[in-house]
Amino acid sequence: MERKILLNPGPATTTDTVKYAQVVSDICPREKEFVNLMNGIREDLVKIVHGDENYTSVLFCGSGTMSMDVCLNSLLPDNRTILVINNGAYSARAVEICKYYHLAYINLKFPADEIPSLEKIEDALISNPDISIVYTTHNETGSGILNPIREIGTLAHKYQAVFIVDTTSTYAMRPIDIELDQIDFCMASAQKGLMAMTGVSFVIGKKDLIEKSKEYPKRSYYCNLYMQYEYFEKYGEMHFTPPVQTIYAMKQALNEYFEEGEQEKWNRHQRVCEAIHNGVARLGFQEVIQRKLQAGLVVAIRYPDDPKWDFMMVHDYCYERGFTIYPGKINSLDTFRLCALGAIDEQDVYQFFQVLENGLKELGISVPVWYKENNKDES
Ligand SMILES: *Cc1c(COP(=O)(O)O)cnc(C)c1O
Repeated sequence: MERKILLNPGPATTTDTVKYAQVVSDICPREKEFVNLMNGIREDLVKIVHGDENYTSVLFCGSGTMSMDVCLNSLLPDNRTILVINNGAYSARAVEICKYYHLAYINLKFPADEIPSLEKIEDALISNPDISIVYTTHNETGSGILNPIREIGTLAHKYQAVFIVDTTSTYAMRPIDIELDQIDFCMASAQKGLMAMTGVSFVIGKKDLIEKSKEYPKRSYYCNLYMQYEYFEKYGEMHFTPPVQTIYAMKQALNEYFEEGEQEKWNRHQRVCEAIHNGVARLGFQEVIQRKLQAGLVVAIRYPDDPKWDFMMVHDYCYERGFTIYPGKINSLDTFRLCALGAIDEQDVYQFFQVLENGLKELGISVPVWYKENNKDES
């Protein structure tokens, strides 16, 4: 199969062995063989974040947003409030979910290029004793900023709140220790860090808190965490039909994850990200987020001011040559993103920048790329 390099923030480039793992004999997912497969996957998912027997994982058939939806709608007791620490597009999505379910929430906003202030978070917790969930995003995939989850989680627990973190764009890439990082619930989908197929997402969290949530208002039928958990515990299966072939690919991806190793894999993503930074700098592009604030997986880049710059034309040039780049997700700024996810390594990135450079030249865009403020002195 022709190899494509995806530099978008997921789905990620996969190995051929993961792709072909989907081709299996037809099987009814209620068979023991499939139940055993699911059990193994559930254990593997907890192992990746070093959770002990107090943690479990619950799988859903859906993209990553489904896990956000599940956590938010299932874990809030009646008459309590969710505090969303919001410095980007994915936490803003969590706020939208709260709105759709008519949940009580506080949208604690911070600028997209800054780390949230712990003082302001603590102030919010002090003045709103009805907060029972603190929610944030680990790596804001829209900008690539890394939020200080351990510190936020410590604050959440100081005020007896449950701490939920969207780790969709760090899980199985940047090492996470669920207990040390103060996480009660985190989540991801199979097509990002795991480098598996689209269609499965999962929540990892504290068993006792899931069991407690049995008494909470049921706000969704298909997306209720306790209901799905209970079914898994009783029967070892999803309540409704799972994405069978996607699950086989996921098992293969998990095997490959453990084969590569947590640290080795993270080193590789860091190598890829370093190659992205080098290429960006060589062509004169400007990054949006200060290097020291980045999670090391997503690089957000400002559009140059060159009148010939046209993102879609650049995108199409690269796409035709096997490389996919992606628009940004920062409200106030025109950006695009290059990401270090997937089964790729630094030489793929070097090849990409060669293609990008050729593309810029063919499209008549000056290299190094041009920004207004850099040329002020000359005019
Ligand atoms: C990708 C992503 C999601 C989920 O997006 P889907 O399109 O539903 O897969 C959620 N949160 C973060 C931080 C993400 O990066």
